[in-house]
Amino acid sequence: MTVKQNYIDGEWVDSAAAPIVDRNPSDVEDVVGSYAAADAAQTRRAIEAARAAFPAWSRSSIQERADLLDAVGGKILARAQEIGRLLAREEGKTLKEGVGETVRAAHVFKFHAGQALRIAGDLLDSPRKGISVLVQREPVGVIGIITPWNFPIAIPAWKIAPALAYGNCVVFKPASLVPGCAHAIAELLAESGCPRGVFNLVVGSGREVGDVLVGAPEVDAISFTGSVETGRGLAARAVGSMKKIQLEMGGKNPLIVLDDADLDNAVECAIQGAFYSTGQRCTATSRVILTPGIYARFRAALVEKARALVVGDALDEKTQIGPAVDATQLKTDLDYISVGQKEGARLVAGGDRAPAPKNGFYIAPTIFEDVHNQMRIAREEIFGPVASILRAKNYEEALAIANDTPFGLSAGICTTSLKHADHFRRNAQVGLAMINAPTAGVDYHVPFGGVKASSYGPREQGVNAVEFYTRIKTVYTNVSIGG
Ligand code: NAP
Repeated sequence: MTVKQNYIDGEWVDSAAAPIVDRNPSDVEDVVGSYAAADAAQTRRAIEAARAAFPAWSRSSIQERADLLDAVGGKILARAQEIGRLLAREEGKTLKEGVGETVRAAHVFKFHAGQALRIAGDLLDSPRKGISVLVQREPVGVIGIITPWNFPIAIPAWKIAPALAYGNCVVFKPASLVPGCAHAIAELLAESGCPRGVFNLVVGSGREVGDVLVGAPEVDAISFTGSVETGRGLAARAVGSMKKIQLEMGGKNPLIVLDDADLDNAVECAIQGAFYSTGQRCTATSRVILTPGIYARFRAALVEKARALVVGDALDEKTQIGPAVDATQLKTDLDYISVGQKEGARLVAGGDRAPAPKNGFYIAPTIFEDVHNQMRIAREEIFGPVASILRAKNYEEALAIANDTPFGLSAGICTTSLKHADHFRRNAQVGLAMINAPTAGVDYHVPFGGVKASSYGPREQGVNAVEFYTRIKTVYTNVSIGG
């Protein structure tokens, strides 16, 4: 099998290190590809290339940038089935989810193609006579982009596209579990005429490649998505070289279901939020908080639906829930299930590996009840298809439980009460509030991010991406000088 190379300074580059072997979590016998592992020296070369390319790219015409991003978006759309299949093979989400994520990545590129044409400033009068003030946006410089494995094309897209749109150069380090989609993005940028050095791909471990990026003084900003633990350590280092940083991290997202909720919709929200994408989403529902009047009906319907979900090979069209991404994540899921049992929670669905025809990391959608909010399974991010049911006396207690968490990414409520929906909208301590909608599932044209331990720095996506990927310069002009 040929080893796919890294992309540095406009060239495809081999590595002397042992390649990263990308295996299909639905069937570990299936090797998706082999990828050259970049080392520290190659990462430094990629940073130098980005630095050298920055002066020209930062002054490139907005039309050139828009055309590049539009071309990449168009190529991703044209190859959505193929790339979606690659995504499902390397990450384990279902083919439908993989294609959906790929199409979303294409839309992200196209959206930011438009944004490149709309870089605006503000012209203000001054309190001082004869002075005018211009507040203008400028690119930041070299951006280090570090991404997790769970959205292997959408998350890279929503960082790379705005970075390039606003005139920055990029060194991209994907999670080493999913180099295939990262390589596809690099290929499409190269094919679309991205000038050399403007975009660089370095596949390799966080400890080696990621660490060089975070420490390098020549990198001006780091946009990171991943776990809180990694994010905290990385932020402390990045600040040492005065970098701009943006961190998107974990969640422990609650879904409140009140007595007056539409039962079918509420159950569907919980099923989708907790189990789709195998629960491997930062916005996944992990705490379902029920009031007494709906408890029994909701629990029965949820358990029945969860047990009926088809777990299997991500590429099989009948599959609704693919495997965990790897053996480590599967072990984490199973370990948390035994933690929950030891803490006194009661298993009402799943709780073990799911039977499957192939040698993959399959786990049954799992539901605990009799969970209280201080248990570890209610406080720590599991990142698997494991949901807990908690009881609340009324809406006020449900909201207090929902907010009693170190995280603050997404929270949902199912209710037909306008009063409670409106109170929740104002008082949920999160960046994403969902009303009669699953906690997971967001649009690309609006801001994304959380509060508390879930996020740090400016919001990602939509028009708000301009905050992170530009710096502001305030220009004072004495307009009374000259003729
Ligand atoms: P992770 O282990 O924190 O890794 C994230 C990225 O950081 C990977 O590319 C990893 O590289 C790299 N990395 C690890 N150690 C590093 C270091 N010392 N210096 C620099 N980079 C380093 O997270 P993950 O397991 O991939 O992803 C799951 C987590 O992401 C969950 O907590 C989830 O909630 C979070 N997430 C958050 C959002 C959001 O927008 N809020 C979205 C998706 C996922 P290697 O893995 O290659 O070593």
